[in-house]
Amino acid sequence: MTERRSIQLGGVTVDLLQIGTFRSDAGAIFGPVPQETWAPMVADEIDGRSRLLQALNILHIHDQSGGVLLETGVLPAGSTVHDDETNARSAYDALVTAGIDVDRIVSVVPSHLHRDHAGGLVDGSGRAAFGNASIVAPAREIAAVASGSLRAQAAYDVPVLTRLFSASPPKSFEAAFALTPAISLRQLGGHTPGSQATVVRGSERTLLFLGDLFMRPWQANPRWVTAYDDEAWVSVDAKASIFAEAAAGEWLVVMSHEVNNPVGRIVDDRGRFRFVSE
Ligand SMILES: [Zn+2]
Repeated sequence: MTERRSIQLGGVTVDLLQIGTFRSDAGAIFGPVPQETWAPMVADEIDGRSRLLQALNILHIHDQSGGVLLETGVLPAGSTVHDDETNARSAYDALVTAGIDVDRIVSVVPSHLHRDHAGGLVDGSGRAAFGNASIVAPAREIAAVASGSLRAQAAYDVPVLTRLFSASPPKSFEAAFALTPAISLRQLGGHTPGSQATVVRGSERTLLFLGDLFMRPWQANPRWVTAYDDEAWVSVDAKASIFAEAAAGEWLVVMSHEVNNPVGRIVDDRGRFRFVSE
């Protein structure tokens, strides 16, 4: 896709920005799916080290009440990286370059707090990158960061998030939260204990963003979860349920790490689902 796409939902505009790419091990992304099944699907993008090309997609939503940022990418504000692994800039810089008024952003909502989604919450000195905004996250996700588990220490930048949250305490919620009249958040779990879904309702269309519960199109099959999913069985049930809702409502769905066609719809396919780009 181009670096920026504006999606009109009716009274609410969603700007999708692609702020970089990185490489992920294909086997880890396909989790329980046999290589024999997935290999033909990614023949065009897999590299010599068995890695897929993944995008860093962030969403900026604006309506009358202000701006809301979903996801912050992998890097602190002011940073840029170009190497074999990653080619990315910070969410803050990408938004400024796109002409978006970052001072108007009132809430920053990472889908979960893994490094590639929460990295841009901070600036180069570790302070909140979006000074006028509240960070919003399920209590269960904040607790996962603080849990001290070995898996959490590998997946989250625990020292950075701990310092940030003590200086700028996040706004937390339990099961669901109406962030604005148009935007509601649901804690689903699965990929991480507090992975959340964002549902944005305009007068004409509804848009769903699931973070890494739906990062690439083949994950429209609820059973195709990644090896990074902490609670794989929760992911399967959560996806089956919200995909049914998205298919029935003809919601737009945006994928977190899809490079070329990250926007589309989920359609019911004989009790399973598949993704159709729009
Ligand atoms: Zn991710």
